[in-house]
Amino acid sequence: MDTDFENRVTAPEYLQEDGEVELSLRPRTLEEYIGQEKVKDNLAVYIEAACKRGEPLDHVLLYGPPGLGKTTLAGIIANEMNVNFRVTSGPAIEKPGDLAALLTNLNEGDVLFIDEVHRLSRNVEEVLYPAMEDNALDIIIGKGPSARSIRLDLPHFTLIGATTRAGQLSAPLRDRFGVIFRLELYTPEELACIVNRSSGILNIEINQKGAVEIASRARGTPRIANRLLKRARDFAQVIGNGIISHDSAKNALDRMEIDSLGLDSIDRLILTSMIRNYNGGPVGLETIAAAIGEEAITIEDVYEPYLMQVGFLSRTPRGRMVTPAGYKHVGIPVDGQQRFDD
Ligand code: ADP
Repeated sequence: MDTDFENRVTAPEYLQEDGEVELSLRPRTLEEYIGQEKVKDNLAVYIEAACKRGEPLDHVLLYGPPGLGKTTLAGIIANEMNVNFRVTSGPAIEKPGDLAALLTNLNEGDVLFIDEVHRLSRNVEEVLYPAMEDNALDIIIGKGPSARSIRLDLPHFTLIGATTRAGQLSAPLRDRFGVIFRLELYTPEELACIVNRSSGILNIEINQKGAVEIASRARGTPRIANRLLKRARDFAQVIGNGIISHDSAKNALDRMEIDSLGLDSIDRLILTSMIRNYNGGPVGLETIAAAIGEEAITIEDVYEPYLMQVGFLSRTPRGRMVTPAGYKHVGIPVDGQQRFDD
C-alpha cells in the first residue's frame, strides 16, 4: 500500500512542516482564541476568580481530537494567570524521578502542561496524586525493611493535562482534575476567522471566499486550516497572481485531493473498503484497520471523529457502519450493494 499516512496534509497531528510557523500563529490571549465559546466563558470566570483570590487555577483537563487548540489554550491560561508555562508530555516522563525533578523545579503558581497525559505510566501517576492534591512529593529513602518515606513540600501549581482519549485516563487521575473541558471541532465560520487571522500574521493575501473555501475543507481543525492555507499560498504564488481567491483555493485543494468536505484519499479508502469488503458494516475497528493498513487507535482518534461529524460513519454496538450519505459521497449506490447481498 503506497498511502503516505505520515505526511498527509489533512493529518491533525503536528507535522514537521508546521514548524516554527505554528508557534507564531498561536493566539496568546483568550480574546484572540477563536471559537470554543463555552470553554472560554467558563475559563475566563475561573481565571478571574483565582487571580482575585491570589491562588493558582484548579487543575485542568482538556480533551478532544488533535489540532483543536489544547496546547494553545494551556499556554493562554499561563499567560492570563501571568505565570510560567512548562511543557512536557506523558511519554517523555519515563520514571517517577523525572516527574519529581520537573515538580521541584516549578515556581509558585506555575502551569505544568502534560500533553498525552493518558500515556503516563502507573508509577509516575502515583507521584502525581499527592502533588496535585496536597502539593507534596513523597520520597522513599532506603530499601527493604528500613525504607521510609519522607514528604517534601512543593510550590502551588496548576497541572493542565491534554488528551485525545479521556476514556483511557485512570479514574484516580481524572478525579483529581477540578476543571474538565471537552474541545469541539470548529464550525467552518470559525475556521474562516482563523484562516483570516493567520493570513494577516503571515502576510498572505486572501479574500473572504478563499478563506471560506479553505475553512470548509479543513475538517473542523485549526491546525489543518493553517496548513491548507500555506499550501494554497504556494499554488497561488506559482500558478496564480499570489492572491488566494475562491478559484485558486479550490484548485489547490483539488490538486491535494481534498474533496469538497475535506475528506482525503484515506478517508475515502476507509469508506470504500468498508463498503466493498464488508457491505458497509457493521465492522469492527480492528478489521477496518487491518484492511487499510493503519492502526486502530489512529482510525479512532483521527479519522473517525470527522467521518462521524459529517455523518458518513456511525457507531453501533456491533461495529462501525457506513451511512447512506457516506455511500453517496463515494459514489456507490446503497441499492446496488443490497442487491449484491441478496
Ligand atoms: P492541540 O494541542 O489540540 O493538538 P494546538 O494547540 O497545538 O492543538 O493547535 C494547533 C494550531 O492551531 C496552533 O498553532 C494554532 O495556531 C491553531 N489554533 C488552535 N486553536 C485555535 C483557535 N481557537 N484560534 C486560533 N488558532 C488556533
